[in-house]
Amino acid sequence: MSAPLANVLERDVDTEGPRGRLTVDVPESWLEAGTVLEIVVPKRLACARCDGGGCDGCGRSGAIRIDESEEARTVRITLSESARAVRLIRPLGADAGLDQLVVELRPAAVASELCRRVRGGPRGNGHGILTHARLRLLVLVAFVVAVIVALALRR
Ligand SMILES: [Zn+2]
Repeated sequence: MSAPLANVLERDVDTEGPRGRLTVDVPESWLEAGTVLEIVVPKRLACARCDGGGCDGCGRSGAIRIDESEEARTVRITLSESARAVRLIRPLGADAGLDQLVVELRPAAVASELCRRVRGGPRGNGHGILTHARLRLLVLVAFVVAVIVALALRR
């Protein structure tokens, strides 16, 4: 489990090299901020520049081949709020021949075989972690208690 955390780019940055695209099925409940997914990038990726038609980025083949071991093709991504597509820059390192990888997350009943959840988001983890909403409620309760105590002491 030593897969590096891939660099996630929020905006579209044009890099020169091959750009692949991958659609991954994930259960709806996984799609929340803080979820960490581990994805094994297939050896053959659709070219994101030409959609398989063939261009300079993919050597006119329409696809990008990655000759790396399964371990080397494994990436981890942390989802941000309502992310449905994640753009990764050189997710497999500088020498893998993949400059960008766009991972599209598609809500489905069952997760794709190449994808697994390493860690759920705050809601998925259930209790134990204070969400913002719970924290706000806690602060509110503490404030009300403080007011009641202050009023009681005045009498
Ligand atoms: Zn292409």
